[in-house]
Amino acid sequence: MNALARRIAKLIETQGPLSVAQFMTIALHDPAEGYYATRDPFGAKGDFVTAPDISQMFGELLGLWCVQAWLDQDSPKRAELVELGPGRGTLMADALRAAKLAPKFLKSIDVVMVEASPTLRALQQERLKDAGVAIRWIDRFEAGDRPLFLVANEFFDALPVRQFVQTERGWCERMVVVENEALAFALSPIASNVGVEGDAPPGGVFETSPASLALAEEIGRSIARHGGAALIVDYGYAERGFGETLQAVGGHKFKTLLERPGEIDLSAHVDFANLAAAARHGGAQTFGPVGQGAFLEALGISARAEKLSRLNRKEAPSIAAAVDRLVSPGQMGTLFKALAILPRTAPTPPGF
Ligand code: SAH
Repeated sequence: MNALARRIAKLIETQGPLSVAQFMTIALHDPAEGYYATRDPFGAKGDFVTAPDISQMFGELLGLWCVQAWLDQDSPKRAELVELGPGRGTLMADALRAAKLAPKFLKSIDVVMVEASPTLRALQQERLKDAGVAIRWIDRFEAGDRPLFLVANEFFDALPVRQFVQTERGWCERMVVVENEALAFALSPIASNVGVEGDAPPGGVFETSPASLALAEEIGRSIARHGGAALIVDYGYAERGFGETLQAVGGHKFKTLLERPGEIDLSAHVDFANLAAAARHGGAQTFGPVGQGAFLEALGISARAEKLSRLNRKEAPSIAAAVDRLVSPGQMGTLFKALAILPRTAPTPPGF
């Protein structure tokens, strides 16, 4: 056990088993040893590379998507541009640069970065110090009373999930316990009423992210009341099924996930159907999800790539490779999806 696992074991001994969601929260966000709290996990040397760091085109197109949604809603004067989980700050830097095409948009928005990790917050501040707009940072999303333009790339996959396993007793929650001086999974002895439709085979897993659903509902409610548009891009499934998707990145096995909390990334597929339903429950309308490939193609990624390649011929092969990685079905084009949340009266946004 590493130091964080030992602390978690102590917590379990004094307070009882943890849900998978509680374990995930500590492993990712413990202030001293949590995964996000203590490191920069991105880039070639890190654990994973995300779309904004594959190409500047990603952030540019998402920025212009926000500008178009803002124009479609009669250019509200006092709006917020919020990013959830901005990582290294690359997406926002590219989005704001592209939005210079619409100076009135830049004048009308306050930028808000929602970031729990002090390490990543410092990276973002450095990355955006010359952005030329006022930016503030907060720990968790708070709905305000202004039109909300929001982007979230690979944010919802990092929110904690709970897991329930179908047994003869009903749906029993998977918990983290201490066994033989190590962290281990066990099923709660009492079944839960999880309100799941459909039958799962014995041993089938129902996975749900209450934090994600609550947040999508809050965003939907704010957009329904005050206007705005949200764009959620992530890997996940459009139709829900039974099965577990919680994973540790880095080729580590599921078991290892309990042994070295804080040292590896934990994430789960996003359940787009329920995320969209939660936003609609908040009063908004939703579009998609559509595959990231189709979405970026519709926004004009090929034309943008051609233009960048003309400006810099030497870079043409790497620009083409980046487009391929972002849009082709074998890579990020279909596993990754885009979901939009808008007021019921708004027109269909670009890309959907
Ligand atoms: N959007 C970035 C980073 C994705 S990784 C990109 O595409 O590269 C997830 C990001 O969300 C990190 O910045 C992480 O610190 C942040 N994060 C994860 N859970 C969070 C939470 N509960 N509250 C606020 N930020 C969170």
